[in-house]
Amino acid sequence: MDIKYDDNIIPYLYEGVYVVDQKRKIIFWNEGSERITGYSQAEITNSFCHNNIFQHVDDSGKQLCLDGCPLHKTLQDGLIREARVFLKHKDGYRIPVMVKTIPIYDSEQKIVAAIEVFTDERFQKQIYHENIELKDKLRIDPLTQVANRHFFDFQITKRLEEAKLFSNTFGILMMDIDHFKNVNDTYGHLVGDEILKIVAYTLSSNVAKTDLVSRWGGEEFIAIVDVLNNDDLMKIAERLRLLVAASGYQFDEEKTIQVTISIGGTLVTKTDTIKTAIARADKNLYYAKQNGRNQSKICD
Ligand code: GH3
Ligand code: MG
Ligand code: MG
Repeated sequence: MDIKYDDNIIPYLYEGVYVVDQKRKIIFWNEGSERITGYSQAEITNSFCHNNIFQHVDDSGKQLCLDGCPLHKTLQDGLIREARVFLKHKDGYRIPVMVKTIPIYDSEQKIVAAIEVFTDERFQKQIYHENIELKDKLRIDPLTQVANRHFFDFQITKRLEEAKLFSNTFGILMMDIDHFKNVNDTYGHLVGDEILKIVAYTLSSNVAKTDLVSRWGGEEFIAIVDVLNNDDLMKIAERLRLLVAASGYQFDEEKTIQVTISIGGTLVTKTDTIKTAIARADKNLYYAKQNGRNQSKICD
């Protein structure tokens, strides 16, 4: 029998792939199979799979090689099967795998072989969790646990694209802690860090779910908020400002350290770029600082 494999794909597929002929002799064994089971191509090719090499069992512990092997059944009736089984690694331990068995026909529509594709579920789960962890690392500022600058850039780009497409608006607020250098100089950098965390938490806990608070850098934060006009943007800015002013870090029994923030905000419209929007918010923040700090300045 002559079965052709795509030399560029199947041997290197992440999944385990092997082929048995009508007598259940293993005639093909890819690298994925080697990796998952620990058996090399040389050890496996030309052996018979019912000779109990992998000793597939189902979740009740039933041995499938002699009775109930999905690959054997597919060889007999040509049906594609999927099953969750546990195969035995060369080192003796059991691995949960999803197997899929597919018949191979000759030109006269006779079943001449069958393919088993199997995936190592443990590894998929591990990759999934690693991906989530990595994604979080890419998005979250490690100190304050709000979004980082990177994620802010990503989100504002998306929001601006939407604004251009649907002619809608949103607001941004740049927030900077007042005289923060004094806090560090007086109480030390570690206390400064704790206060940064409190400010970040106060800000992120008091915006809508669809809004985003992120750390712009140092002791500056920037928020994207869903608003349609300056009045609403001012209301949110003032709420955040007052809530930060009313928060505090308990330094010792007698001393609570409190800080204030200055806020510069602007509405962002479809005529903006990220640069023009940030520049306006920055100018307003500068004004709020110059005008005495602990205040919000919003304008178009
Ligand atoms: P202003 O009211 O004009 O904003 O005064 P300021 O002292 O807050 O402003 P300035 O930009 O001069 O100083 C910001 C300070 O923030 C200086 C820096 O030490 C501190 N800072 C920046 N990032 C961190 C951080 O991650 N942790 C701590 N503890 N301090 C930080
Ligand atoms: Mg600053
Ligand atoms: Mg500051």
